[in-house]
Amino acid sequence: MASPASLFKITPSTNPLPAAEREQKLKAIQFGRVFTDHMAVVSYRDGKWQDAEVKPYGPLSLDPSASVLHYGQAIFEGFKAYRQPDGSVSLFRPEANWERFNRSAHRLAMPAIPQDVFIGAAEALVALDQAWVPSGSGESLYLRPFMIATDPFLGVRPSDEYLFLIIASPAGEYFPQGLKPVSVWASKEYVRAAPGGTGEAKCAGNYAASLLAQAEAKDHGCDQVIWLDAIQRELIEEMGGMNLFFVYRDGGEPVIVTPALTGTLLPGITRLTLLSLAADLGYKGEERRLPLSDVLRDIQSGAISEVFACGTAAVITPVGLIKGRGFEQVVNNNENGPVAMALRDALLGIQRGTAPDTHGWLHQV
Ligand code: PMP
Repeated sequence: MASPASLFKITPSTNPLPAAEREQKLKAIQFGRVFTDHMAVVSYRDGKWQDAEVKPYGPLSLDPSASVLHYGQAIFEGFKAYRQPDGSVSLFRPEANWERFNRSAHRLAMPAIPQDVFIGAAEALVALDQAWVPSGSGESLYLRPFMIATDPFLGVRPSDEYLFLIIASPAGEYFPQGLKPVSVWASKEYVRAAPGGTGEAKCAGNYAASLLAQAEAKDHGCDQVIWLDAIQRELIEEMGGMNLFFVYRDGGEPVIVTPALTGTLLPGITRLTLLSLAADLGYKGEERRLPLSDVLRDIQSGAISEVFACGTAAVITPVGLIKGRGFEQVVNNNENGPVAMALRDALLGIQRGTAPDTHGWLHQV
């Protein structure tokens, strides 16, 4: 069977960044600002995905009436390619991102994309831009698939035409201060998602609507926002770009508890991965409702020993302080905790190929 990447016409750049300049950029990585020499592009027209191509990275030409610019029919994904000890490159769980992408597409009334197109685009792009995959500790090549509605039409209805692209950006550690606990602001004023809305889809509008709350968090001296449910403003949902875990230690082995998927939070692939990895490390994983007041009480009593956030970009980041109107709660002395660090090491070990991939999560390019 042909490899999915062979579906793509390859048009190499005639002026890729010279190797010395690329190496320079890989030494001082600025996540999300620097992109590789190429991008993958596939068009959807006449009910079919077509014209699959990997071509030089560059601006898109869009009609000013393109519906994405007016009504925001846009979805995206994020996953990473990791340099392996033998020099090869592997993608981490791209099938899971493909599945979530199609669930987001469905919610935004956009067409599904076949697995061989989604994964083939990633394989073909990474194969061509191999040299851009960094090899330092905590480093990777971040892949950003996205789909936009391109119909030149101002009527409010699903577009007939779409573009699917993948661009790639070298990634170092996500938080500029390195791995230190972050502080979080529990927003009671703004809401990210309501039942029946788009909370579990990775659509552009969710992020536009989050920016003001993120600014509010900064105004209160916090790094990130914690979202609470829309109805009671009490159940913990997730962070701006990460899911949350609470480590309970009731005497025995740690239990890592994360908010249940209620339809209003993003089903993170790191979250899912950690629930599997927990068992490997002898921890229990649980998904349930987590009221903020219970969590604050349990941190105070010592029943919760650690809080951490997880996501593709940041992997695992400890939370050292939870603040909101009228309260401020330090967690684990504002230090990195052992359970978060053990899970982080286990996950990075698999991703970087230094620990056995017993779950079959790596997809070699
Ligand atoms: N929640 C939100 C709102 C996110 O944007 C992300 C990042 N995709 C996550 C959680 C974590 O998801 P994942 O582990 O798949 O990166």
